[in-house]
Amino acid sequence: MQITDLRSDTVTRPTPEMLSAMFAAKVGDDVYAEDPTINELEQKAAAMFGMEAGLFCPSGTMTNQISIKAHTEPMTEVICDITSHIYQYEGGGIMYNSMASVALVHGNRGKMTPAQVEAHFRPLDNVHYPPTRLVSLENTCNKGGGAYYTIEEIAAISEVCKRHNLPLHLDGARVFNALVASGNKAKDYGLYFDSISVCLSKGLGAPVGSVLLGSKDFIKKSRRIRKVLGGGMRQAGYLAAAGIYALDNNIERLQEDHRKAKALEETLLQADYVESVLPVETNIVIFKLNEKYKDLDFVAALDEQNIRASSFGPQMIRFVTHLDITEEMLQHTLQVLHSLSKQQVEV
Ligand SMILES: *Cc1c(COP(=O)(O)O)cnc(C)c1O
Repeated sequence: MQITDLRSDTVTRPTPEMLSAMFAAKVGDDVYAEDPTINELEQKAAAMFGMEAGLFCPSGTMTNQISIKAHTEPMTEVICDITSHIYQYEGGGIMYNSMASVALVHGNRGKMTPAQVEAHFRPLDNVHYPPTRLVSLENTCNKGGGAYYTIEEIAAISEVCKRHNLPLHLDGARVFNALVASGNKAKDYGLYFDSISVCLSKGLGAPVGSVLLGSKDFIKKSRRIRKVLGGGMRQAGYLAAAGIYALDNNIERLQEDHRKAKALEETLLQADYVESVLPVETNIVIFKLNEKYKDLDFVAALDEQNIRASSFGPQMIRFVTHLDITEEMLQHTLQVLHSLSKQQVEV
């Protein structure tokens, strides 16, 4: 029986079409900036977002960490939401790679307001404080259940940053989910962000890779940091070709993933074991179980039906839809979720 893997949108495998694009790639040594496919991907992604230049990296953790290091200095501070990936899931890299501190904002489902950003700003001229040097947003917000910022909300935060002369970074691991759901234009992001990290290996379905976008000077500095971190790859155009294929073919179809996530939400809202579901806006479904099931027992019950899910904190479960979840898998999952609702749990 096939496995319905809802643990993450990172679990996708390249399709035959993507694989043939990879096999056909023209490659060169990217440490010499001579890989034509990587150069094409970097320019393509930069142009999409209205940015000057791009840098292909092995992971989104690396693009975020390079960006933070390029924007900050030791003993300065980054403002971000407490749930953000850069703080929660990058192994303490802000402290280790950049020797910077974090000001953690308690936003709403991962989203900060302009007033919250303003309230956490710390100026240079008070010797007690680590001075703020960067603001980082995440769009969509993973731990916020895939909630997204609209371009108006981004513009308002950018206004606070400009007033304090602070660069604004975007962790856009799922930025295309935000764009497809909001109808906003990628090009407009270039007006507000100084750097953007885009993951190709999430909903876009490429096996590896992220691109960091910014000004020419910023990318020049970032290229050096990438080398220091060991992220300078050689004939990696084979990987970049998957990224180009993904940008050309797999953006609009994210709507399918969002529709499937909505269907999961609707079924969960009717289930007798669910306490609450974070409102579904994109491809992430985070919900809380009541006392009927313990989280690990619930994950095990799904596992018996060949459905994989992530336990996401006490009594919390996360489903993520992606391009390897077929309609048949969705229907199977809905049916299993429904049947678990009717089941009596032995005590
Ligand atoms: C996945 C993800 C990243 C990058 O993760 P890698 O596995 O290092 O590519 C960054 N930010 C968010 C919000 C993510 O979900």
